[in-house]
Amino acid sequence: MNKLIVPKVILHEHIEGSITPFMAQKLAEKNHIPFPDSLCYPTGEYDANEYKNGRYRYDETNFNQFIQTYDTVSNFLKTPEDYYAITFDFLNRNARQGLIYCELFLSPYHICTTENNGEIIWHKEKFHQTLTQMDKAIVDVQKQHQITVRYHVIGVRHLGAKIVHETLRFIQHNPHHFITGFNIAGNEKAGHFDDFQDSHQLASQLKLQKSYHAGEIESAQSIIQALKHGAVRIGHGIRAIEDENLIQQLVKNNITLEIALTSNRILVNELHGNIYNHPVRKLYEQGVRVTLNTDDAGIFGTDIEKEHHIAQSIFHFSRLELLDITLCGIYAAFVEKAIKEHLTHYVLSFFTSDDKNELQQAITSQHYHPAIIARFLEYQRLLLLTPVNQ
Ligand SMILES: [Zn+2]
Repeated sequence: MNKLIVPKVILHEHIEGSITPFMAQKLAEKNHIPFPDSLCYPTGEYDANEYKNGRYRYDETNFNQFIQTYDTVSNFLKTPEDYYAITFDFLNRNARQGLIYCELFLSPYHICTTENNGEIIWHKEKFHQTLTQMDKAIVDVQKQHQITVRYHVIGVRHLGAKIVHETLRFIQHNPHHFITGFNIAGNEKAGHFDDFQDSHQLASQLKLQKSYHAGEIESAQSIIQALKHGAVRIGHGIRAIEDENLIQQLVKNNITLEIALTSNRILVNELHGNIYNHPVRKLYEQGVRVTLNTDDAGIFGTDIEKEHHIAQSIFHFSRLELLDITLCGIYAAFVEKAIKEHLTHYVLSFFTSDDKNELQQAITSQHYHPAIIARFLEYQRLLLLTPVNQ
């Protein structure tokens, strides 16, 4: 990989949300499903530089239209092979942009259940076949790119505590070596984290690390609740900005926020569709570990390069700060310690002599929050152990 590129990490991408308009069209044709004219803008009616893989037509101010689009597109997925196609497509195009580590969120409930007279039936064969296809896609992407991938199992919050627990029970009986995380996602307003007590416990028992969606739509209080139940990362978490004490707690306990700028601009009402209102810079400057994520890359018309570009051009993150964000991502990754160490050294090998000078200046200037300075000092220490990049 070109040594001047910033290597990138995604900790938060829902696999069904990664489907681009072009991929949706292919899946619909393959599975003989009508493709509604209204789903996407026709060629020529959108900026093809901005939306390289087509553009969905939903009104960005209308949450229901967004959900409808998501559902329509997810319903184009019919077979395990379809999951191969979307996993390969997403990872391959992001790996070309420098993605070296990715966590994909998958929902067993959506992948492998049917309903019969109100009873939910879990089809384990379909689950295994689907994961086999996703694994195969990863191996095929790895033939050309150096990338590591892990999965989270999603408990869909608005389906209720019972189904979330059943989902984890299903994983207990059908484990997979790449499933390292448990995630509560879906409508943040549905229920309270206390309602999911059985699931919090079972996830711990299964040694799944927890990242919960909170503080995107709901208040800072929802983040406090997620932490109380063992989350070590927070999906979005941007409303932490409303609570000074919480920010200090996040910094002190090395909690990582999975920020998704494009997703937040579209879905978070408080931002009024205006990315300039996003608190990412303020959170970073107060010492919080932030990462940049795509969330639903295909549906939002984004990819990791675009998220980095927004961070750089709108929030003035420097190359050194973007490298720090990537290293925060590796630090927070739900992956084995040896791989984490290897990835950390790999990212450090991208530090040019200019980056090292920047690092030294940042440390001596004391302009940064002490938590950031502590990270920078650690990078400096590790750089002495890392082969020089020329
Ligand atoms: Zn999400």
